[in-house]
Amino acid sequence: MSAFVLATANEHKVDEMRSILAPYDVELMPRPDEVPDVEETEDTLEGNALLKARALANATGEAAIADDTGLFIDALAGRPGVHSARYAGAGVNFDENVKKVLGELRGVDVADRRARFRTVIAVAYPNGESWWVDGVLEGTILGGPKGNGGFGYDPIFAPVDEGGRSLAELTMAEKNARSHRGHALRALVAKLASS
Ligand code: IMP
Repeated sequence: MSAFVLATANEHKVDEMRSILAPYDVELMPRPDEVPDVEETEDTLEGNALLKARALANATGEAAIADDTGLFIDALAGRPGVHSARYAGAGVNFDENVKKVLGELRGVDVADRRARFRTVIAVAYPNGESWWVDGVLEGTILGGPKGNGGFGYDPIFAPVDEGGRSLAELTMAEKNARSHRGHALRALVAKLASS
């Protein structure tokens, strides 16, 4: 059994991560209330995930996991990318970020709306050791939101090979089997098993 303190407090992500890891011998523990969140100051997903995992391992003395995810849209030169959480400004909700992306893509042809989610998961240990793995999901940005599941940009992201369904129209099990976060977490399990 491997046990890790988890940096994120986003309930949607914690639910997804627990569900993806359920078949494996990996336990995720919540970040203690007294340990503050770390500001994401790096300009890459790897940089931010490592920053958060290292800070949490130092603060708790436990092995720690942190993740960072971005939506990279080709027609927007890779934006919102590492700034996906606050694309429409600090403290905005998911709907406002979605609206901003849709506005910027207005008039852009379906064929030119290719995008991908990428998740990096970093692991850090109290002895200073750290490493990361990643996972990617390719797809396209829809003309408008569809579906009620998931979170974030899910309603406007259609994974390849899903017949135009958005991620928000998939069940959690379907999303987890295909998603960036699912791929990254299974890579983490494989790396733990091989070390
Ligand atoms: P984070 O770094 O993992 O918190 O992700 C940054 C932002 O990307 C989040 O605030 C969401 O808007 C978006 N995001 C992350 N993961 C997903 C996902 O699985 N689906 C849709 N949006 C996501």
